Amino acid sequence: MAKESKKHDAKTDGKQPLCTIPGTPVRPLEANINDRRASLIRISEKKWVNGTLLHYCFLDEPSTWRGGDDQKDAVRNAFSEWKQLGIGLVFKEVTNPRDAEIRIGFNQGDGSWSYVGRDNVDYATDPDERTMNFGWDLTTDYGHDTALHEIGHALGFSHEHQNPKSGIQWDEQEVIDYFAGSPNYWSEEQTRHNILRKLSENETGGSNWDKDSIMHYQFPSGLIIKPEKYQHQPLIPEAGLSPTDIVEALRFFPALETNLPELRPWESHRIRIGVGEQIDFVIKPKYSREYTMQTFGKMDTVMVLFEEIRGENVYYDGDDDSGTSFNAKITARLVRERSYVLRIRLYYSEQKGEGALMMW
Ligand SMILES: [Zn+2]
Repeated sequence: MAKESKKHDAKTDGKQPLCTIPGTPVRPLEANINDRRASLIRISEKKWVNGTLLHYCFLDEPSTWRGGDDQKDAVRNAFSEWKQLGIGLVFKEVTNPRDAEIRIGFNQGDGSWSYVGRDNVDYATDPDERTMNFGWDLTTDYGHDTALHEIGHALGFSHEHQNPKSGIQWDEQEVIDYFAGSPNYWSEEQTRHNILRKLSENETGGSNWDKDSIMHYQFPSGLIIKPEKYQHQPLIPEAGLSPTDIVEALRFFPALETNLPELRPWESHRIRIGVGEQIDFVIKPKYSREYTMQTFGKMDTVMVLFEEIRGENVYYDGDDDSGTSFNAKITARLVRERSYVLRIRLYYSEQKGEGALMMW
């Protein structure tokens, strides 16, 4: 949609301020995990389970974080643009930061950045802190792309120019010198983290390089040695979400099924899904009591339980067994006549269809 309506200014030279994401620790996996399994875990570990309701709010305090209505509208529009792809994630604006996984500021001196996917709840735990900031005007074409880009991070997507399949060979010193100057003023460490560091193949989903991705920076000429043409011309991604962005968003967050199979006590369900895919169940307890839900078999999964409250699926409990020899397991008190949804995303299984799920 943005493709037709939003074209970059033709005279752009690639010298725009760029996003810089905060560093978070790499989650340790057990030592006996083989490379293939580790790589499959890394593809999905920062992504939300599909169907997650993500709340966002705009922070008004301190006043330096406050944004004008035009800026807030630009962010709201970018959320709807992602949603209109037909993805299964749900976005809702709230006013209390304590209810929000995504807390947005507009501090103009602090650049544009966002935590990546589940890092929003794993590492950005202080409700008074931002998880996303916009450091420049979002009402321009470039600002529109910035809003889409930071939300892309919040959904769990990484920087595309760090895709190991890009084949980009940097003139490292030029890159460090360029980003140390206006308008970014980055330290060498920030430049290495956001540009020079190649992501492992798994962090980018193993997909081919997409230079038009919304998750790709633009670069002025002279920073890239290979592909050679960018020695003499800037690398400017097409505006808006690229066809590959759309495919990837729908791969991880497809439209939700409405008729879910019911999970009843003591019934075993085979898990016949592929790596990265998700299976969902509805639970309608006949009795109020403590229930345990657990996966069986050699699998890595993330399992999240939601309670349906006034038509919304609200997070209730979750477990991620990836990179361990344990299975995902949730024990929770469920209440009769209420409705719950259990969502399981498969990172890895030794053999397709060899896993199962049971509740008791
Ligand atoms: Zn970014």
